[in-house]
Amino acid sequence: MISKGRHQNGDVAAALDRAKKAGCRVVPDKNGHRWGWVVCCSCGTQLTVSGTPKNPGNEAKRIDRFVREHQH
Ligand SMILES: [Zn+2]
Repeated sequence: MISKGRHQNGDVAAALDRAKKAGCRVVPDKNGHRWGWVVCCSCGTQLTVSGTPKNPGNEAKRIDRFVREHQH
């Protein structure tokens, strides 16, 4: 069962879990194709997460890259 606030795509949901563990904030806020944001707690930069990514693997990689770049 998919819990509320979890991304429907497994790859993206796993990347969001990694982002949380790395200390970023994950903010679900569905609006159209937007699923929500990943927010860096150190500098406040926001990454928009698509709810309907054309390529979920790439969307997961985007999130991982963002998290790597924001290990301040
Ligand atoms: Zn940052």
